[in-house]
Amino acid sequence: MPSPASRPALGGPMPAEPLVTLSGVHKSFGAFKALSDITLSVAPGEKVVVCGPSGSGKSTMIRCINGLEPYQQGKITVAGRYLTEEEEVGRAVRQEVGMVFQSFNLFPHLTILENCILAPQWVQGKSRDEAVETARRYLKRVDILEQADKYPIQLSGGQQQRVAIARALCMAPRLMLFDEPTSALDPEMVKEVLDVMTDLAREGMTMICVTHEMGFAQAVADRVIFMDRGRIVEQAPPRAFFTAPQSARAQEFLAQLL
Ligand code: ADP
Ligand code: MG
Repeated sequence: MPSPASRPALGGPMPAEPLVTLSGVHKSFGAFKALSDITLSVAPGEKVVVCGPSGSGKSTMIRCINGLEPYQQGKITVAGRYLTEEEEVGRAVRQEVGMVFQSFNLFPHLTILENCILAPQWVQGKSRDEAVETARRYLKRVDILEQADKYPIQLSGGQQQRVAIARALCMAPRLMLFDEPTSALDPEMVKEVLDVMTDLAREGMTMICVTHEMGFAQAVADRVIFMDRGRIVEQAPPRAFFTAPQSARAQEFLAQLL
């Protein structure tokens, strides 16, 4: 519920509180500045695609939003919580946020189903039956239910990444973060993962996706953010960004993608 002070006048539209805000965020690794003055706000239901050259700070920004990296200046909020260095805050935020990495990160010694029911049971305190029911629902949605009793190594990369998405969804996240989810996949498996992400976007999930998949960005993103050397250099709706990038750095970057 919004506080009374932020409630609009009667009859006015209810402004949605942003789900994620970064304001003036700086992050260094020792003397190296990985993020400089990052300011960004993501509304509920919004889909943001982040792109930029390797080393530009994309993963660092995603990890900061998920409370996995401390930052030195500025302020990050997720679902109304101020992300400080306190472990408890990070843990609370990670319960609201699903994260999918380039390298799947499934637990190799657990079956697909066990991968999906672990956190709901131990972090959210669900019963095993309840966790299994939810997991089966999401595994069905990503078309992997038949493989539920297999181990990750028995699945293709594309299938493993679909499991990773299902596993994240089992926690009922309010926000999904993707960090180059298709860049470790063989080309023929990219589409099956992007299709799952596109469905998720259409259902209204708030998403921040680091990806260089332009087709996906054009189809799904409300906004593309271009990063270079730790800064947000440019942001625009996908069509404007891809057809008429403003900065020389974005122009160079896009020329290399084609
Ligand atoms: P991107 O995801 O855009 O490729 P990253 O966010 O991974 O970029 O990295 C941004 C910069 O920060 C890179 O120069 C990288 O070498 C540096 N960096 C990332 N993580 C660490 C770390 N744990 N320690 C030191 N430097 C790091
Ligand atoms: Mg990265």
